[in-house]
Amino acid sequence: MKIKLHPLDYSGYSVPEQLCKVLEELKELEMAGSNIEQVAEETFDVIQALVGYLITLGVDVEDANKKHIEKLERRHGRVQETEKQGTIS
Ligand SMILES: [Mg+2]
Repeated sequence: MKIKLHPLDYSGYSVPEQLCKVLEELKELEMAGSNIEQVAEETFDVIQALVGYLITLGVDVEDANKKHIEKLERRHGRVQETEKQGTIS
């Protein structure tokens, strides 16, 4: 799966301003209710705002994403091993 985000310029936003944007988009997502098209649109607004938040914090988003994927791959592997053993730890 690939998700493509617009390379917005966040240089004019402070960390608190971008965090407010994240919260604003989360509220819009909540307000979308059961309108699935609106939910999808607002979900991507949340994702875009969260990535912008990381950028304003100075996080290397590509590196953080790579580490996130590696973490999920490790967890997914552990889940498969647990299922084979029939135990949950
Ligand atoms: Mg929105």
